[in-house]
Amino acid sequence: MQRLMEGVHRFRTGEFGNYRKLFRKLSQEGQNPHTLFITCSDSRVLAELITQSQPGDLFVVKNIGNIVPTAAARGDTNSTAAAIEFAVEDLRVSDIVICGHSQCGAMAALLAEKPPRASTPHLNDWLNLAAPVRETLHKNYAHLHETQARENAAAEENVLFGLDNLHSYSGVQERLADGTLRLHGWFFKIATAELFAYDPETLQFAPLVS
Ligand SMILES: [Zn+2]
Repeated sequence: MQRLMEGVHRFRTGEFGNYRKLFRKLSQEGQNPHTLFITCSDSRVLAELITQSQPGDLFVVKNIGNIVPTAAARGDTNSTAAAIEFAVEDLRVSDIVICGHSQCGAMAALLAEKPPRASTPHLNDWLNLAAPVRETLHKNYAHLHETQARENAAAEENVLFGLDNLHSYSGVQERLADGTLRLHGWFFKIATAELFAYDPETLQFAPLVS
């Protein structure tokens, strides 16, 4: 906590000066983020840092494994679905990015297939939403044996699974139909901070070019 308090103090007395006008403007005019950015809760994946975004730019959802459930996945814990509806229908973002990453603990857990722990029922249920990704790995990636390679493949497939699931939201369907919304699948490599984007033409993730 001491580290957090010191950080808050450093921000208030230092860097905040650079943002004072922007925060005042955003407080008066409200937010108008251009992108819904869905990524993993992992402490090494910082949406604003890796995209050099400013306050007000990104509406960020961080969840375990950047899993996007289908619109049919109801229940009292589906805050990701709520954020998708709000960002698409109220904030009217123009873009949605789902950003998976290397060394993802959620993907490791998904592939490890250990018996579910009784003390983590929410976590078990949450990861189970991505069970189809595990099936895809079994079906299409039997040739991959190395753990890291399998986990990275799972992270990429999980992004594609999330993009598919986005299509199940009626608001997303409407905005895609009228051409006002674009969907993007990204993969972040932690060690080198490289970003890769899914190319629907080559069906591959390729280095992101601006
Ligand atoms: Zn992760």
